[in-house]
Amino acid sequence: MNSAKMAAVTVLAVVLAAALAFLYYKTDIGQFRKQVQIASYLREMKDIDTRWEAELLRLRSESGPSSITTAHLADSLRRALRGLDEEVSASRMVSYSLPELKRAFTDKAELMEKYRSVAATAKERLETALVTVPDINKDLRQALLNYPRQRDRIGAFEQSLSRVQAEVLRFNLSPDATQIGRLEATLGALRQAELPTSPALGPLLQKFLSSVDEFYKTKYQEQQLYNRLSYITAGPRLDTLTSAFHRELEDSVQEKELFRTALITYAGVLLILLSHIGARLRQSYLEVAEANAALKEANEGLEQRVEERTQALSAALTSLEESQAMLVQSEKMSSLGQMVAGVAHEINTPLAYVKNSLESVEAQLNTMGGTLNETEKLLRMLREGADEQAFGKQFAAVTTQIAELRNAHTIEELPKLIRDGQYGIGQIAEIVSNLRDFSRLDRKKVDRFNVADGLDSTLSIAKHLLKSVEVKKQYGAIPAITCSPSQLNQVFLNLITNAAQATEGRSGEIRLITRAPDPDHVEIEVADNGKGIPADALPKIFDPFFTTKDVGKGTGLGLSIAYQIVEAHGGLITVDSKPGQGTRFVVRLPVHPPADTELT
Ligand code: ADP
Repeated sequence: MNSAKMAAVTVLAVVLAAALAFLYYKTDIGQFRKQVQIASYLREMKDIDTRWEAELLRLRSESGPSSITTAHLADSLRRALRGLDEEVSASRMVSYSLPELKRAFTDKAELMEKYRSVAATAKERLETALVTVPDINKDLRQALLNYPRQRDRIGAFEQSLSRVQAEVLRFNLSPDATQIGRLEATLGALRQAELPTSPALGPLLQKFLSSVDEFYKTKYQEQQLYNRLSYITAGPRLDTLTSAFHRELEDSVQEKELFRTALITYAGVLLILLSHIGARLRQSYLEVAEANAALKEANEGLEQRVEERTQALSAALTSLEESQAMLVQSEKMSSLGQMVAGVAHEINTPLAYVKNSLESVEAQLNTMGGTLNETEKLLRMLREGADEQAFGKQFAAVTTQIAELRNAHTIEELPKLIRDGQYGIGQIAEIVSNLRDFSRLDRKKVDRFNVADGLDSTLSIAKHLLKSVEVKKQYGAIPAITCSPSQLNQVFLNLITNAAQATEGRSGEIRLITRAPDPDHVEIEVADNGKGIPADALPKIFDPFFTTKDVGKGTGLGLSIAYQIVEAHGGLITVDSKPGQGTRFVVRLPVHPPADTELT
């Protein structure tokens, strides 16, 4: 799988997983649990508010003390508010309204506390005042008995007192500001009324008046607290929030239901997809296992085949090496053949010389031998005294033969013919000596070698090729080198033969130059003015079997062998050529071959 496909599959897997996580989050019951908790806290607060309202009613109607302790309600409120604080994240509505709601409930709790204590004080003062009234009446009845003449004053006082009592009770029922004026007016009238004579009445009246004073002020404060309480909108606020929250809850339940359906559908699709992938995986696993088994089998077969091939290859290599050696040998034989043919041709001319001379000498000697026989016959006739006619006939024949010999200058010619024969034999001897010099079969394989001598013996061997070529020698003063002379002669012969062949058909010129570029090296240059080498062939000329010559004329091995020989001597052979103008080979050799060269 390529990397782009891999990246696409990864992205797809991440998207699928993200979608699954999103749907799972959306259907998370945790959120729902929190919302249910919020609903229960809201209900608790509603309960607290209802209890407060009932408490207020009870306090207003004075129908007895509350059955709920304030501390209990405060605890419940704290708990509910803390709970809402904790779960607020589950509802947008609640989180929006909670600060206001909190303030309203805290205010209401505080006012309720105050209201409860003020209402208790007012009630206590009222009771004190109302309890004092029967004592005052009792005292008034005693004063009437003691002082009957004060009847009118006592009656007026009683009236004033009962008016105050009636106003106090009315004020207790509706304690608004307008009632305060009336109450204070009746109180003023009571204070101004003449006191009947009674020692206990003064203090009792004082107690009554101060209780009433305190009562109506406290009651009025109670009323104001009540009014403030009725302005605090904790209850309605809570109701509004509760119904909004319920709507929100309903929406959220519907949304959850929707996401739950989506999740089930999505999970189903994923399940189908996964089972499809699973099936594909299983199939590819089976295929891979099958391929592995096949591969293993093939490997085993392959090893065997590699073994067989290796054996076949090494056999082929051995036979290749053998054929290469044979080819090299055949190249040597071929050059040897050419050389032998040339040498034979060279020997042929002096040999013909010698043969002609010897044949002439033989003919002359035969003639001379015949004359000598006739002369001996004449001498025998003279000694034995033969008849004159026979003697005269013999004498004339001998005289004629001697005259013929003299006329033919046979005696003078014989030494010349012998010299000619000797010259031919000398030439043949020189050729043989050159051959020996060239092949150096009678010397050591590795020897000190005078390069110029090598070039000369090569030239003499290749003489027959150089008939129409002018050879120009420029031998510099170079040291003798350590090398395999017969191998180097082979190199020179190859270069000179190629040069001579390249100049065929034109007035050829071959330059042989030797020089020493530095004390440790010598250079031999073989240059010709032949046809040159085309640029595309130049890089291939040292390759084995590369030849441009006709079949039978070239094997393509000469330069390749020359290259190997020079390389084996730790040297280098280079070439440059201009097609149509000529070619120049330079053989660079060390004076002493490096120790690692293997000269044979
Ligand atoms: P061969 O002479 O048998 O062809 P060589 O290896 O000696 O093999 O030479 C390879 C080829 O290089 C020759 O066929 C010839 O084309 C080219 N060559 C070598 N020497 C010369 C030269 N002096 N001038 C032109 N071509 C040459």
